[in-house]
Amino acid sequence: DAQEATTTSTIPTTPATTKKASPALLHRLINAPPPTAISAHGSTLTLSTGATILDACGGAAVSILGHGHPEIIAAGCAQLSTLPYCHTGAYTTDAAESLAAILIEDGKRFGLAKALFVGSGSEAMDAAMKLARQFWYEVGDEGVRERKTRWVARKQGYHGVTLGAMGLSSNLPRKVPYAPLQIPGVSFVGPAYAYQYQRAGEDEEGYVARLRGELEEEFERLGGGKEVIAFVGEPVVGATSGCTPAPRGYWKMVREVCDAFDVLLILDEVMCGCGRTGTFFAFEQEGIVPDIVTLGKGLGAGYAPIAGVLISERVLQGLMMGAGSFNHFQTYQLHPLTCAIALEVQKVLRRNRLVERCNEMGKLLENDLYGALAEAKYVGNIRGRGLLWGIEFVKDKSTKEPFDPKVEIGARVQKKAFEMGVAIYPGVATIDGIKGDHVLLAPPYTITKEELRQAVDVTRMAVLAIE
Ligand code: PLP
Repeated sequence: DAQEATTTSTIPTTPATTKKASPALLHRLINAPPPTAISAHGSTLTLSTGATILDACGGAAVSILGHGHPEIIAAGCAQLSTLPYCHTGAYTTDAAESLAAILIEDGKRFGLAKALFVGSGSEAMDAAMKLARQFWYEVGDEGVRERKTRWVARKQGYHGVTLGAMGLSSNLPRKVPYAPLQIPGVSFVGPAYAYQYQRAGEDEEGYVARLRGELEEEFERLGGGKEVIAFVGEPVVGATSGCTPAPRGYWKMVREVCDAFDVLLILDEVMCGCGRTGTFFAFEQEGIVPDIVTLGKGLGAGYAPIAGVLISERVLQGLMMGAGSFNHFQTYQLHPLTCAIALEVQKVLRRNRLVERCNEMGKLLENDLYGALAEAKYVGNIRGRGLLWGIEFVKDKSTKEPFDPKVEIGARVQKKAFEMGVAIYPGVATIDGIKGDHVLLAPPYTITKEELRQAVDVTRMAVLAIE
C-alpha cells in the first residue's frame, strides 16, 4: 500500500516544506496548481508534503537515467563553469560538435548525416518540417516549389504544441481553441492501431494492406504525391493512443509507398527514441530508415531541455543544392549547456549499456503487466516495447465498448496510483468515435527490479480499485 511504497524507498529523506504554490504562475489547470516537487533521486520524486513518488513514467517518458546522476551533474557543472553560453550562430562549441558526432557516428548505419539541436520536441518537429520543405525547394524546379506544400500525418498522432507540430497532430483536446490557426495542407490517414482499427476477420497482413490502400489513395488524391512534402508519424505512438507499436510490416509499407510517390518520410521519435523501445532508434526494429528523424525527451534525460533533428545524406545533399544554408536560427539552438548534458547522457547510455538494460527490463515489465492485469475487468489491451507500455481501458472487453466520453478511466487509475505513491501517465483521445483511454508506463532505464514490481503492483491495485 501507500505507506509501504514510501517506506521501502531507498532515497534520502528530504525535509518537508509547506510552501504554497504562488498564485502568479500560469498552470495547465490555470487555478489548480499541481503538487510541488522539491527534490528527486533515482526513480523517486519527493513532494513538499514529504510524500515520495516512484516515477514509473519518467515524467512524460523523459527521465531515462533517473535523477541525481553524478556524471550528468558533473558534465553540466563543468560546462557552466567553462562556457555557459555563446551565440551559437556565430560560434560552434565542443559540446554541440561532440553530441552531433556521437549520434551521427551511430546514425551513419542508417544513412543519417547531420544533426541539429533545439530546445523541445515541438521545435524539433517544426525544424524537421522546414528542412523537408527546403529539401524540395532546393532540388525541385518552379513546379515542385509551387506544388510541394502539403503533409500527410496520422489520426492518433501527437507531434507537439507549436503551430507546425500541432498542425500535424490529431490530439483534439489540445487543438480545439486554436483550430483557426491550424496550418493548411495537412491530411490525416488512419493510424496503425490494431486494437481499435483492425477489423474482425482481418489479419495483420490484411490490416497493413488496407492501410497501404488508404495511403496510396491519399497520395493519388494529392497530385500523385506531387503536392506532398512528407509523411509524418511516430514509429511507436506515445501520448495520443497510449503506446501503440505498428503491426508488422506497416513501416516497410509506408517507406515503400513514400518512395513510390517521391514523398519524404519524417519519423517523430521524440518519445519513442533514445533507447525507449529497446533499440536506440525505434525505427531500427522496423527495418527501414527515415529521411528525417527527431529525438527529444530522453536526449536530455530531464537534465536539460534539448531535442534533436537528424537528417539523412539524401536530405543533406538536397539542401546543399541551394545556397548551403538553413535559415532557421533560435537563440537557444545548440546551447552549450544542454548539448554538454545530452552528450554525457549519450556516454552514460553507452558506458552502462542502458539501452540493452531497457530492453531486458522491458521484458520483465511486459511479463509483470500481463500477469497483473490481463484478467482485469476493464483492461482491454496491454501493449508496448522496451520500457514504453500502455494499458487501454474499455467498458466491455468483448465488444471494446468504451466508457461514457465523460468518464476517463486512465485519469482515475493515475489518481489512485498517485495516492499510493506511484506516478503513471494517463491519456484519453476520442477520434472517429473511437475513445482511447489509457495509462502509460515509461520508467527510467535504471529502474530497479523491485521498483518495477512496485510500479506494477500499485498499478494493479489502482486498476482493481476502479472496478
Ligand atoms: N512528439 C512526440 C511524439 C511527443 O510525444 C511530444 C511530447 O510529448 C512531442 C513531439 C513534443 O515535444 P515537447 O513537449 O518537448 O515539445
